[in-house]
Amino acid sequence: MAPDAVAYAIGGSFAVAIGLVIGSFLDLCIDRMPEDRSVVWPGSACTSCGRPVRPYDNVPVLSWLLLRGRCRDCGAAIPARAPLVELLGGLVGLLLFHRFIPSTAELDLPHFALWAVHLGLIGCMIVAAYTDLGHRIIPNETSIYAVPFGVAGAALLAWLGVDDWLVVSPLTSIVSAAAVGAFFATVAVMARWALGHDGLGWGDVKLITMIASFVGAIPATLIIMLLASVAASVHGVVHLVATRRRAYLPLGPLLALSTLTYVLYGDAVVRGLFPGASMFFGPR
Ligand SMILES: [Zn+2]
Repeated sequence: MAPDAVAYAIGGSFAVAIGLVIGSFLDLCIDRMPEDRSVVWPGSACTSCGRPVRPYDNVPVLSWLLLRGRCRDCGAAIPARAPLVELLGGLVGLLLFHRFIPSTAELDLPHFALWAVHLGLIGCMIVAAYTDLGHRIIPNETSIYAVPFGVAGAALLAWLGVDDWLVVSPLTSIVSAAAVGAFFATVAVMARWALGHDGLGWGDVKLITMIASFVGAIPATLIIMLLASVAASVHGVVHLVATRRRAYLPLGPLLALSTLTYVLYGDAVVRGLFPGASMFFGPR
């Protein structure tokens, strides 16, 4: 192999390895954040007997397979969700690597920063998706508390001078988060007033605000909301036809899927929807 190809393969493997480790951490967050427990201390432990996981039993996916999905100490089953979320982390790491570092020309620190910032965004979305599905909870740590990281990410990428249609300026990041947060907070209040119950939860409002701080309000958050609505409608119709009952799907997983879609293929989506919108993205 040419030296370039070797370097690229090493870069890709690094992205997958970091993704797997992040996935392992996300699984811990999914377990602990709905219960308001620390995700830093204590470290990974069996949810059944509480004994700490040995470092050599903490290798993503592989350890679960070797232990046949059981705790080494008490034999309690470790949910299959653990290796699945780890695999998901690795897959997202690879997809984002392919998206932001398509060739050796982008194999540099600024593009790895681009990759890392969006791995952070999607990581928050994965946790929010799972906790919303399992507990109807979207943790503040993955939503409103992550807004400063969205702004910091925009500032870092601006400082590094990264050129990508997805990147927004730090000012756009701040204004977007404020505007989107205020808009959807108003929608939530009005929906509650009109319906008599929550039409849009506060967790959803905070999550959408976080997304806006990373990718900006227009067109990104608009398109992400549009994609999530389309996905919700498709799911609703399929569910109705299959079970003859109305479906309820929380917004978290829909937003996670549509945010990942936008990060990966947003320019193509916008070009498809609005053929005249190249002013947002420039020629390609
Ligand atoms: Zn145990």
